[in-house]
Amino acid sequence: MSGKKRDDGLENNATYYVDETHDPAIFKIAQEVRAKIKEKFGKDIDLRLGLKTGLYQEIGRIASTNLYPDGHKEVVIDYDIAKKLAQTDRGKTILANICAHESGHTLLGHAKSFQQALEDAQSPMRRQKQELEADVVSAIATGSSAGVEANSEFAKEINQPPSNYHHPDPADRVKAAQAAAKNGGSSIAVTYDEDCKINDIQSVPLNVTQLVQIKAPADCK
Ligand SMILES: [Zn+2]
Repeated sequence: MSGKKRDDGLENNATYYVDETHDPAIFKIAQEVRAKIKEKFGKDIDLRLGLKTGLYQEIGRIASTNLYPDGHKEVVIDYDIAKKLAQTDRGKTILANICAHESGHTLLGHAKSFQQALEDAQSPMRRQKQELEADVVSAIATGSSAGVEANSEFAKEINQPPSNYHHPDPADRVKAAQAAAKNGGSSIAVTYDEDCKINDIQSVPLNVTQLVQIKAPADCK
């Protein structure tokens, strides 16, 4: 219930914006990712990162991007999970991946409007491509597939329910990140089979306007 206080004095379902004073470890991770994205892709993405109490219970995801009617976006991460992750090296790798992945969505102009988000939701292939693109951005920005791998393991550990937004299979996301981290940063080519399922993922030379190249039968949507 919104407005109710928790035992620790925080409001339920409230967003606390990450800053240098209250969340120095998380702030540092977010700033490092921001600098790497700027270095590799030439764009400065301000995530306006927030920690939200009760997010995981509410939506069954660790992080989510909120889109406002004016087109402004903000990224929220579950408060308790983020605070815990910030205490270990593995957790920091996961947080960096979350920041880089969500920055990737903004960088590539995904879900710029409600209308576009609704349209994208109709196409499993388009949604999968967007998720893989965000994972590829993360792998290139952080120079490694470790974040996507750790995130995928962590999702299993906390029994994260399967997404209803056509997310790719976690094993395919790991494959995509590994392919993207090769040679200091690669694009990937994703081949779909006749059943419109991902069949193969390969590294291809980096092409920043086409990070994920899809090869699929014409009737796949
Ligand atoms: Zn995503």
